[in-house]
Amino acid sequence: MLKNAGEILKQYFGYSSFKSGQDKILNSILQGKDTLGIMPTGGGKSVCYQIPALMFQGTTLVISPLISLMKDQVDALNSLGIAATYINSSLAGNEVEKRIFDASGGKYKLLYVAPERLESKRFINSIKSIPISMLAVDEAHCVSQWGHDFRPSYLAISTLIKELTKRPVITAFTATATEEVTQDIVRLLSLKKPSIYVTGFNRENLFFSVIRGENKKDFIADYIASHRGQAGIIYAATRKEVDNLQHWLQREGYAVGKYHAGLTDQERIRSQEKFLYDDLQIMVATNAFGMGIDKSNVRYVIHYNMPKNMEAYYQEAGRAGRDGEPGQCILLYSSQDVQIQKFLIEQNQVAPERKANEYKKLQGMVDYCHTTHCLRETILKYFDEENAPETCNNCSNCKDDRELVDRTVESQKIMSCILRMQEQYGISLVANVLKGSQSKKVVQNGFNRLSTYGLMKEYTTKEISDLMHVLIAEGYIYLTEGQYPVAKLQAKAIPVLKGHEKFFQRVRKKELVNETDNSLFEQLRKMRKEISQRNNVPPYIVFSDGTLREMCKHCPTDEREMLTIKGVGQAKLEQYGQDFLKIIRDFVGASVPNDKGHDKKEQPSHVVSYHMLQEGLSIEEIAKQRNLKPVTVQDHIFRCGVEGYEILWDQLIPQKFEKIILEKIKELGAEKLKPIKEELPAEIDYMAIKAVICKYKIFKA
Ligand code: ADP
Repeated sequence: MLKNAGEILKQYFGYSSFKSGQDKILNSILQGKDTLGIMPTGGGKSVCYQIPALMFQGTTLVISPLISLMKDQVDALNSLGIAATYINSSLAGNEVEKRIFDASGGKYKLLYVAPERLESKRFINSIKSIPISMLAVDEAHCVSQWGHDFRPSYLAISTLIKELTKRPVITAFTATATEEVTQDIVRLLSLKKPSIYVTGFNRENLFFSVIRGENKKDFIADYIASHRGQAGIIYAATRKEVDNLQHWLQREGYAVGKYHAGLTDQERIRSQEKFLYDDLQIMVATNAFGMGIDKSNVRYVIHYNMPKNMEAYYQEAGRAGRDGEPGQCILLYSSQDVQIQKFLIEQNQVAPERKANEYKKLQGMVDYCHTTHCLRETILKYFDEENAPETCNNCSNCKDDRELVDRTVESQKIMSCILRMQEQYGISLVANVLKGSQSKKVVQNGFNRLSTYGLMKEYTTKEISDLMHVLIAEGYIYLTEGQYPVAKLQAKAIPVLKGHEKFFQRVRKKELVNETDNSLFEQLRKMRKEISQRNNVPPYIVFSDGTLREMCKHCPTDEREMLTIKGVGQAKLEQYGQDFLKIIRDFVGASVPNDKGHDKKEQPSHVVSYHMLQEGLSIEEIAKQRNLKPVTVQDHIFRCGVEGYEILWDQLIPQKFEKIILEKIKELGAEKLKPIKEELPAEIDYMAIKAVICKYKIFKA
């Protein structure tokens, strides 16, 4: 049976192997057993009930809590060639009746229903006419009061089960697996001797990092500039902070939306839709954003403020990389965030035990922000996962490529100034004194007579206060609580102040992006967007980022090759295959095959260009011989460079200019080529600049 399931996985979904746990869960369901699958976000829960739905006679009823997602889920299935529909409050009464009528006639393999519907006796009676083979409960933790999203209407599911004349197979899925929640799911959904599968919490594709003490806005500015075009979420603690950040990023020229409880329903829906459809690249939001999104191609989640506990953090950060492609989860820590969270706990009118528990959880979060151990291990241990490996090589603690810069002297100046100001003042006044400001406050207090006055005048006050924040984050200085926090020295500062120890700051290397990088990916992405608009479905439902990347990697040029790409099943091939194949053929300079698959080239096109260059032909000559544009040939060569082929760079870079080109790129960054070209001698062409970028790998590979 599992063999058939594997064939369906390939034919409809375009995947050739099961993800961890899927096979066991499928096996259990296909044997007709009630089954509970606990898998992390992105673990591939849907397939676990969609494949049996196709294999069973009759219809699978899916209970799903989010009306906003239902249409997308059904669209996604339809685009795979699977008959599915949904019933929720967004439909008019006669449409509901029509869908039930069609379902009774066996038109759909899957019928999605909002749980609220089950509270109506009339509705339950009306669906009795449908031949229900399986009941799949998505987000099953919603049935439990212990879970974080309790939905009372989930309790009506067991009523439905009792009412049905023939008991279907009951399956339930969730990513939340505490003991209480699991027991509640089994009991309240009336599961009979269920097989329970827990596949673990680890999300291998996510890179976790904690950034302490850096100026948060500077970090974000750099990060999103070097990740242009990628979808990301920035979470902030308050509505005001969200408004400010969104406004700022909008002024910087980004397509950025916002989402928080202070907006109208309509504003929120519009913002969310635009993000889903890739019309907005970045969403700045409070934690109100997320329950309703299923966007699989979110490439990064940045927390501008530390959340209240690890549960919230892992859930929010986990919205990155649901498609299994790499995702970055970055937490920007500052000690003020702890004060905010403590303040919020104090505001809560709850019992003392509950408060104590919230403080304990907050401490868990703060510990995560300071640990020197593997971040993934810290998370997994927090969630009681057994056998969490000690290192993962995919978090900022296991893989720290920042440079160490000696900042002992500057730190001593700051510490000494704090002492001379009697540890009575806040960051900005200390920074002003070190800068040598003439401000009233400095002069009135006589700080202009201190020996530390103007000791750092070559720095901006922002640079000084940024460094103070680093010293705070690293535990050398601390800020008192209250409305006007005062900077004081910690014991750890003394050895540095006395010159017995040094202080090194970890400084991030700037990531630069090459404009020509991923040009095929960009073209495919544009096509995906076009199709998405044409069919009115979000782009990630057309194809995931992962599928587009696979296309870039393997460059399929005919249908047979296209079907080997992960995520391309028969239905999608028929609907969109030719649109994407045409782009790929143009890119690699391949001709349209006469008959399927027989026109396979010996070598990919870019490698052919590469060999011609190695033989001594110029770019122009290759372009002419191959009937391609010179710029395409250049891209071929650079692609080979990225793929590790040895390139004779001297053929592409005039030696006498190499150094100045490199210096200009380092000065101006590699995001845009035009400004670099404009500042170099006119005889240096774009190709030489691109070649230097490629040679020195000054871009994110
Ligand atoms: P969950 O509901 O557990 O968060 P989804 O069901 O949305 O996860 O699946 C996450 C992603 O993984 C989707 O893009 C889905 O198409 C993909 N996926 C599911 N099964 C497989 C598989 N066997 N191989 C590769 N990708 C898969």
